[in-house]
Amino acid sequence: MCGIVGYTGSAQAAPILLEGLSKLEYRGYDSAGIAVMGSKDISVVKVTGRIAGLCEKTDNGRTVEGCAGIGHTRWATHGAPTEENAHPHLSNDGRFAVVHNGIIENYQTLREELKEKGYHFDSETDTEVIVHLIEMYYHGDVKKALIQTVNRLQGSYALGVLCRDEPDRIYAAREASPLIIGLGVGENYFASDVTALVAYTRNAVYLDDGEFAELTRDGAAFFDCLGQPVKKSVSRITWDVQAAEKGGYDHFMLKEIMEQPGAVKAAISPRMKNNEVVFEELAITGNELAGIRKIVITACGSAYYAGCSGKYVLEALTHIPVEVVLASELRYSNPLIDNTTLLIVISQSGETADTIAALKECRARGARTLAIVNVVGSTIAKLADDTVYTWAGPEIAVATTKGFTTQLAVLYLLSLYFSRLLGIAGEDYAEHIRILKSLPRLIQQSIDMNHGLPKLAEKYHTANSLFFIGRNTDYAAALEGALKMKEISYLHAEAYAAGELKHGTIALIEEHTPVIALCCNRRIMEKTLSNIVEVKARGAEVLAVSYRDNTKILSVADDFIFIPEVADIFSAIVEIVPLQLLAYYVAKENGCDIDKPKNLAKSVTVE
Ligand code: GLU
Repeated sequence: MCGIVGYTGSAQAAPILLEGLSKLEYRGYDSAGIAVMGSKDISVVKVTGRIAGLCEKTDNGRTVEGCAGIGHTRWATHGAPTEENAHPHLSNDGRFAVVHNGIIENYQTLREELKEKGYHFDSETDTEVIVHLIEMYYHGDVKKALIQTVNRLQGSYALGVLCRDEPDRIYAAREASPLIIGLGVGENYFASDVTALVAYTRNAVYLDDGEFAELTRDGAAFFDCLGQPVKKSVSRITWDVQAAEKGGYDHFMLKEIMEQPGAVKAAISPRMKNNEVVFEELAITGNELAGIRKIVITACGSAYYAGCSGKYVLEALTHIPVEVVLASELRYSNPLIDNTTLLIVISQSGETADTIAALKECRARGARTLAIVNVVGSTIAKLADDTVYTWAGPEIAVATTKGFTTQLAVLYLLSLYFSRLLGIAGEDYAEHIRILKSLPRLIQQSIDMNHGLPKLAEKYHTANSLFFIGRNTDYAAALEGALKMKEISYLHAEAYAAGELKHGTIALIEEHTPVIALCCNRRIMEKTLSNIVEVKARGAEVLAVSYRDNTKILSVADDFIFIPEVADIFSAIVEIVPLQLLAYYVAKENGCDIDKPKNLAKSVTVE
């Protein structure tokens, strides 16, 4: 979380920093600030709240003169979102300014040490120790001071540093938080992610852990923690500028929901050749797969729910037992994992701190690792033995939509691919291929069939609590549907396995309690139907998600969301789409800040 940017060139830095920060705002948005090297001193401007406030305070950057600077949009971890705690932080002598993304775990010890040495602190952040350490270690050589400083730090950081003595130079360092260098002509940049860079350059260098960058307008030098030069390769950014714009939609979230047919197609099409699933990027062989006794899927948030959904498909098609474990739990669980385990990690950003830690833990125990990520060059993509990209394009809204459905698409593809590698692909393989190819069309239909969702949102937006129920694949979709509702509309929403409700939670069902019943898995539809009747008998208002021909549901539910006909095992990817839209319209009714929900941020790079 947190977005950081840096610029050095011949243009005024502040407008460029602000533009970059506005692209990174999804990463954190409780306060923001910039530091720019002026004619003599570093000027710092900070605000609580959004980048818009910073733009207003600086007349869109016009009032802050200087051609080198750094900026930050914060998601507070240490200290409230106040102006004092906002970054950049200055050293006591005003010589250095620092922005930081991450957490310094040993900040308390360092803070005590620095206080004893006479440094005073203006904020409650962990970050502030960094800038005072740099001042302490500085004796005319910024590079040396920076290396000595990071040697003292435990935890994670992406750092941007500005020094008054080197007015046209900016420095960057990275350890376990993302940082990308953008190479321009007569100007250079750094940013937490490529969306802040695409408007200026397509040439990017991905910093690795323990590496530093020193940027001037004409050059970029890279070095390691011994100060030795590091040779880095330049990658081309392929995302286009429009992909990170709203394109006429009220919100990024709505745009991204509508992009799903195209995004799922982009995930599936390149992996279909002559009616077979191919994964040219995967090194794992049939022999290696045959030695796998267990698949463990680990992730956080929606990606975890994608895993819950994927489990049904993977088990059905590969006959290998699948466990789905939250990354924040797996990392500390002393897991029973060895070289007969295939670990699948799922993360849209590829930077999720808990998922990275779980991946490292399981690798150390000998697991073979496969990552499903969206962001090219991200930490997880680099760490895993195999990486499959979801090709969803940039996802800006904090609540994931196309990120989630493309993860599902990849899990479906992998299931089919593995079944062939193992030589157990069944008679239905060809039929499954046909269905996967039709998913983009079915998702589009699922959107087109539900123009009535704003009306339903009007009815349900005042609910105190909503319950989502379903069985099997419907249950996995219910989990994600409820999370969408919580994240963006702030309504209390819970998902339950439909059969589990009567073991306690049904006590909460009262007259008019909304129950959203997912009933798209035909094999067990009758069972869910019984649970619907049970909650109806206790006064619930039932909104059913099912097929038009499901007459039994039609006769008991109060409201309906219809989806096009789809095979049971692949139904989650189709039924989740109207639930994303429902959450969107409910949030809109409630006047919520849909793209930037309170307390959240995308790309959770802290533990
Ligand atoms: N730990 C820093 C702070 O609280 C940065 C937060 C982050 O990167 O999420 O200011």
